[in-house]
Amino acid sequence: MALCLYAATTSQGKLRDFRTAAEAHALSIEPLPGLKTIPAPEENGLTFAENARLKAVYYSRFAPGELIVADDSGLEVDALGGAPGVRSARFAADSGLTDSPDANDNTDVWNNIVLLQRLVGVPPCRRTARYRCVLAVARDGQLLHTAEGAVGGLILGAPRGTGGFGYDPLFYLPALDRTMAEIDLETKHTLSHRGRAIQALLPQLGL
Ligand code: IMP
Repeated sequence: MALCLYAATTSQGKLRDFRTAAEAHALSIEPLPGLKTIPAPEENGLTFAENARLKAVYYSRFAPGELIVADDSGLEVDALGGAPGVRSARFAADSGLTDSPDANDNTDVWNNIVLLQRLVGVPPCRRTARYRCVLAVARDGQLLHTAEGAVGGLILGAPRGTGGFGYDPLFYLPALDRTMAEIDLETKHTLSHRGRAIQALLPQLGL
């Protein structure tokens, strides 16, 4: 029987990535039941690892006996001194750009606009960046495993592609001549930060 991990994320993009990764292994990754009704913990860690750990340990207390996986991930842009980093999800909000309460969620659009604005005038050769992901697995409030993955790329001057989520339309992979939003999920799994972190986690799960 497949090992089941419950993912402590409401991000549909992350869930899609997790599911694609799990399909190739004796692993099933399901959304943590009732996640939306659980108050979210404050993600106040200074690193991806701290945030992943605190989320996994926190949410595992709401599902006794189950394995909970939490992901903290984001984009580091060299020309911005590593920003947005752990603030990736809130990059635009930190500049005061947020949706009105009744609007659809346009967070990714705002974040991409702020990223492009911050990089105005930065030449292509200096637009190097990487996605990083740390996964943490916990059960009953105990941290059991952590794993990391990263992938390097360049930030384009305009978005390309309709797949993926977050910063994917701006994140260009020179080796493939594609952005993350232009590749299929299977390819994304083999080379993305999240795919690599999952690969690094599998042996720790005995898979
Ligand atoms: P958090 O891990 O929920 O704090 O948010 C991570 C943020 O980093 C997301 O909201 C995205 O903006 C960005 N991010 C993380 N992984 C990816 C990815 O695979 N593609 C695009 N953006 C990502």
